[in-house]
Amino acid sequence: MRLLQGKGGTHPGSKGLTRDEVLAWLKEEEELRLEFLWQGADQTRCERVGGEVHLRGLIELSSYCRRDCHYCGIRGSRKIERYRMTEGEVMGCARTAQKLEYGTVVLQSGEDLGLTGDFITALVRRIKTETPLAVTLSLGERSREELTEWRAAGADRYLLKHETSDPELFARIHPENGDCPRSSARGTGPSFPNPRIELLKQVRELGYEIGSGVMVGIPGQSHESLADDIMLFRDLDLEMIGCGPFVPHPETPLGRLAVPGESPGTVPGFDSARSQVPATDLMTTKVVALTRLVCPDANIPSTTALATVNKEHGRELGLERGANVWMPNLTPPKYRALYEIYPGKALVIDTEQFHANLLATLQRIGRVPGKGPGSRKR
Ligand code: SAH
Repeated sequence: MRLLQGKGGTHPGSKGLTRDEVLAWLKEEEELRLEFLWQGADQTRCERVGGEVHLRGLIELSSYCRRDCHYCGIRGSRKIERYRMTEGEVMGCARTAQKLEYGTVVLQSGEDLGLTGDFITALVRRIKTETPLAVTLSLGERSREELTEWRAAGADRYLLKHETSDPELFARIHPENGDCPRSSARGTGPSFPNPRIELLKQVRELGYEIGSGVMVGIPGQSHESLADDIMLFRDLDLEMIGCGPFVPHPETPLGRLAVPGESPGTVPGFDSARSQVPATDLMTTKVVALTRLVCPDANIPSTTALATVNKEHGRELGLERGANVWMPNLTPPKYRALYEIYPGKALVIDTEQFHANLLATLQRIGRVPGKGPGSRKR
């Protein structure tokens, strides 16, 4: 494994990491050696994307979902109260983003066909004509026609995490259900490619900047498959890469698996004997750091999930180990608790207060809020 070698020496990744080196770093436990990884990632971040931290206001516009992902707290089969925001409510959030000088809003939701193509088109057009904001959409697997129309209306970016590049694991945690065949219409299972990877390539062809990412420590995830994920980030030439730890939600099949003595529910094929990636802040920041080294120019958020598993330092650790993006939540307080994809994220704190804390954090670690839309430079 290549390490920092004295003054003017190299840092890990300065000559491009191989898949085996990525794998070795994922398994590295020695604190002193990990220090080199953190330094290499931070130095690369500084040289390639600078000290700006781009702010993207997250608007969780609907909690309806037609899918039934085994890890997600708003999976369709859960009997929970659901909401869908109105155009006026979303515009209110967008104006808050503009006032706080965020460069981008991210419209995220469950996979909700009640958010019609036309509704999103009108919304994107309005945000793009009434504000200077960049618009990122994260609405799940939608049709090519809709994606084309939204791009024409001015949407800049599309975020669709592939979650895992291991086809077997992907199939295990993303059950098909009656109203919801996979978008590739080629089925699921080990012999089928992850349909999200195919869709991302199509979205790129439509002229969007594309973003993907994975959950770190999904039950059944091996270090090998996580190394493959990181190499895939580079092959897809992603503009945005978001990685957070898997946070068990007790009311989901995978969440129940994480609680000793609980039944795994309906997760077939789970083999607890496989080498399991831990869903920790340490492992997540290893992934963030390696992602920075492998994709030096990408926009990489320090995620809310990381800040959830390490409430005191998670956000800063991410920013100090390769990340350059922060996505503050602008969802109206009355909806926050209803968008509980994992527990502990719905902390309701006044937006202005949150912003003041954010600025203080950035100042403390010697960084500055980004200006403008913050697209990938190279
Ligand atoms: N419906 C959209 C948005 C999903 S929510 C889509 O499918 O793309 C955004 C992200 O939250 C997911 O991509 C997933 O990576 C993450 N997520 C969901 N459940 C989670 C959990 N239990 N722990 C950590 N992250 C989770």
